[in-house]
Amino acid sequence: MPPPDPANPTVFLVGAGPGNPGLLTLRAAEVLARADLVLYDQLVPERILDLANPAAQRLCVRDLPGTHPDKYPHIHELLIATGRAGKTAVRLKGGDPLIFGRGGEEAEALRAAGVGYEIVPGVTAALASAAFLEVPITHRDAASAVAFVTGHELPNKPGNRLDWRALAAFPGTLCIYMGVARLPVIVAELLARGKDPDTPGAIVERASTGEQRSVYARLADLEDARRNAGLEAPGLIILGDAVARRPPQGWWEARPLFGKRVLVTRPAHQAGDMVRKLEQLGAVVHRLPTVEIRDPADPAPLDRAIDQLRAGAWDWLVFTSANGVHAVLRRLDARGLDLRVLGGVKLAAIGPKTADALKEYRLRADVVPAATFSSEGLVEALRPHVAGRRVLLARANRGRDLLREELAKVATVEQVTVYDQVDAVAPTPKVTDGLRRGEIRYVTLPSTRIAQNLLATFDDTIRGRVERGDIRLVAISPETGGAVRALGYPVAAEATTYTADGLIDAVVRLVKSEEGDSGESPPLAMGGL
Ligand code: SAH
Repeated sequence: MPPPDPANPTVFLVGAGPGNPGLLTLRAAEVLARADLVLYDQLVPERILDLANPAAQRLCVRDLPGTHPDKYPHIHELLIATGRAGKTAVRLKGGDPLIFGRGGEEAEALRAAGVGYEIVPGVTAALASAAFLEVPITHRDAASAVAFVTGHELPNKPGNRLDWRALAAFPGTLCIYMGVARLPVIVAELLARGKDPDTPGAIVERASTGEQRSVYARLADLEDARRNAGLEAPGLIILGDAVARRPPQGWWEARPLFGKRVLVTRPAHQAGDMVRKLEQLGAVVHRLPTVEIRDPADPAPLDRAIDQLRAGAWDWLVFTSANGVHAVLRRLDARGLDLRVLGGVKLAAIGPKTADALKEYRLRADVVPAATFSSEGLVEALRPHVAGRRVLLARANRGRDLLREELAKVATVEQVTVYDQVDAVAPTPKVTDGLRRGEIRYVTLPSTRIAQNLLATFDDTIRGRVERGDIRLVAISPETGGAVRALGYPVAAEATTYTADGLIDAVVRLVKSEEGDSGESPPLAMGGL
């Protein structure tokens, strides 16, 4: 076995932050984008996993074999095996990997096995809670130190390593992780060791997300306050005078959509930006991706391209998706042709998934970008090969033109539509249940076709909720609104600018009017979010 190359780590111990995807570090996003394996903790949100290389294997620690609740030693074994195979493994943990995350033990196991690794820090729960509750956990007048404490070790338990007397006397803010389930014991212990019962305290769950909830009380009353508010583990406890320095409502909970549950039904390739903006306004976003792949409505251009390929009219055939590969091969088959049509042409794939689709037909891509699986990456990878050549781009009926524009500077380029993306709606059980139970309140309708398709899937329960106003339909335009009314549904709001930003604005205005906020509101400055 070669010694680990410190310049080329293959295992990354990565902090995913406290839940808000915007708090992921750039480095974490970089390594996720090139991971072969992502081994993640249960609490890591799906939105962060979306950033992983599409070809990566995603595995939740919970699904590893074995009965140990923390799944050791399987985690170590898998990371070591992946590293030794020269593949990139990302071990993704909530918050920071070294703060109550056992990252240190994983690093030690990798070191002992001679596997190179890198540690990517994350925003730990205490720091996220401080920022999103606006508790200045250090303060010149109120707190000169911060302690990160585990509430998992019971006082009086044999082997307990915490000095509760010292903690009670600690001249600063205590941030207690994993302590909510044991709050009464923790409070009793601190009081018995002399901590002031009037010490200001807070409990927060899901800090940094639209689902953040918090309660405040003096130390002696904290458990009652928790019970009254119905807060459960997991949550973070913050104790100290700094808690009293927070404003009555922090900046995050004041966001116009804070805690509002919004359904985004934009096609998957356009949804990201809208989801991000809604999240930054405080919303809890549910997603219903709405793209379906069909054979092209007009197959004539594809047939013409296939005839040209048979005649040797093209030097390169470039695929920008796995769907494109399957579509071309499907059409060959339908016309009674086979792989030999592609015998004389060089093949390029935009990324590993597309290259894998070619492999399914025993075809090998001649060019795949090494790192960046985008049009930009493909242009870079192809440019040296195609100067003066004839290049055919196989693509969907919609998409970016960058590839054609850039390659046309050096080669003869044409593109052909090999499949169509249509906006079809197939609600996941999660979304349907969310609507039935009234957990999703605002349904954004970004086009007439999506609105009609979505409403056609509503059952009587959901229809009843829309009619009673528990579910609010928000249309992107008067045209879409009209189509919704034509189907017998009320429209709660319509956008005045017919864009995703306009749609978001309409939701914000609707929420304001529901909350009895009267008067003109200034337009939202989305750019700053
Ligand atoms: N490595 C993590 C901590 C893991 S221990 C980190 O650095 O944040 C799990 C505990 O973290 C939970 O019991 C809870 O106390 C705390 N926690 C994690 N995310 C949180 C969040 N978004 N809001 C409040 N507490 C959180």
